[in-house]
Amino acid sequence: MSEYRIQGATGEWEVVIGLEVHAQITTNAKLFSGAATAFGAEPNTQVSLVDAAMPGMLPVPNRECIRQAVRTGLAINAKINKWSRFDRKNYFYADLPQGYQISQLYHPLVGEGSIEIQLDDKNPESTKTIGIERIHVEQDAGKLMHDQHPTMSYVDLNRSGVALMEIVSRPDMRSPAEAGAYLAKLRTILRYVGSCDGNMDQGSMRADVNVSVRRPGDPFGTRTETKNVNSVRFVMAVVEQEAKRQVAVIEDGGTVVQETRLYDPDRNETRSMRSKEDAHDYRYFPDPDLLPLELDDAFLEECRASLPELPDAKRHRYETALGLSAYNAGVLTADVETARWFEALLAETAARAKKSEAEVAKQASNWLISELFGALNKLGRSLETSPVSPAAGAELLALVADGTISGSIAKQVLEKMLESGDGAAAIVEREGLKQTSDTGAIEAAIDGILAANADKVEQFKAGKEALFGFFVGQTMKAMQGKANPQLVNELLKKKLG
Ligand code: ADP
Ligand code: MG
Repeated sequence: MSEYRIQGATGEWEVVIGLEVHAQITTNAKLFSGAATAFGAEPNTQVSLVDAAMPGMLPVPNRECIRQAVRTGLAINAKINKWSRFDRKNYFYADLPQGYQISQLYHPLVGEGSIEIQLDDKNPESTKTIGIERIHVEQDAGKLMHDQHPTMSYVDLNRSGVALMEIVSRPDMRSPAEAGAYLAKLRTILRYVGSCDGNMDQGSMRADVNVSVRRPGDPFGTRTETKNVNSVRFVMAVVEQEAKRQVAVIEDGGTVVQETRLYDPDRNETRSMRSKEDAHDYRYFPDPDLLPLELDDAFLEECRASLPELPDAKRHRYETALGLSAYNAGVLTADVETARWFEALLAETAARAKKSEAEVAKQASNWLISELFGALNKLGRSLETSPVSPAAGAELLALVADGTISGSIAKQVLEKMLESGDGAAAIVEREGLKQTSDTGAIEAAIDGILAANADKVEQFKAGKEALFGFFVGQTMKAMQGKANPQLVNELLKKKLG
């Protein structure tokens, strides 16, 4: 990987990036109240007296939120702090009825960890480790709505008090691609762990993008922070635009101001929102309504034992134990749902063939990646909404493996499965798609083709061997794709001498 540089008027610049990612913890109830957290509910229907900050209400920590944050910490190889504490971060805003956010500044739940990113999906060696400074747990604020009425603003407190993890990276990234790969990998891990659904378009994961520029080798420059960026693509765009803007400012003789900015995707530019507060502006202090969190070993052990096989380990296993290519292993492990689907397909396929999973892994993975993904894509669907189940896919693969149908007929059958929801065997039967090994029929077809193409037969015999493929194709066409391809090859060879 060549290093990413910005070419300024006065020379080259390096970009430095750190991400703060807010991830909504997947739980039924909020961090300190029993109110529900479902997405898309009518405004203000999921608000308890705690979330509305009625005087005298007391927060009670939700054990499940803490458990999920600890599991996330373990998944990024982080130090879990057995003693942590909640702090109040004081500020006034109309969507924050308490007048402060309960967060963790001084003693976060999760300390240092790391995530490995891969920069080239075909090259498993192209990895880089990105440090993670901490994960702390905090409340979300409500939401203001300004576009419902020309002269009024409304507040929806459904989100008020929802549990968030703030995952703070070290300033270890050096290009838009690295920042994008980091966010995508983090999302993958959270979805495997099940601590956050990773739905960036519903706001359950959003990134604050810290960017600065410097001459290669110089100390870090002043950073800006672009808030609430909600897709991998936008994060990459923010890095690129913001770095270029900073270079222009500095080369014009100005200085970069530490500030909070907003990204406008329609104009692909960042805009200043407000000057950046420092921690002391918030008058943080330990929340007197909450006891410190003290975790015991049994709880930590339970969290550790509940972790699934994680993406890096799974990917490695797919390559070594199943013999998949680095690329296929990467594609199949990039999302937990894809991996689950593949493993179900693999188990069914192996059971039908009475073979080991390793023996059928190549066939199953190639079919899933090049056939099913392609066909679903055409229909604008994904695996989650696929009308074809892993068991149905395995039934189709078994028909190919035992020679009942050819690979090209399998494509047609898959299309019909997606259309009708019927099983592969039923479709093959109904439409008469069985592959034939009827030597007589194939020979008759070949004779016809050779007679109709006497000139090409001459050329073939004169040494133009590439024509063999042409004869195979024509024969298969004449047989409507149903001839056993191996037999076609053999018979053609015999007849052409
Ligand atoms: P704050 O809450 O004030 O933004 P944090 O410590 O929570 O401060 O987050 C700082 C973030 O900014 C981290 O992700 C860190 O990696 C990143 N960062 C710090 N210094 C720089 C820098 N010079 N350039 C780019 N990113 C930086
Ligand atoms: Mg910040």
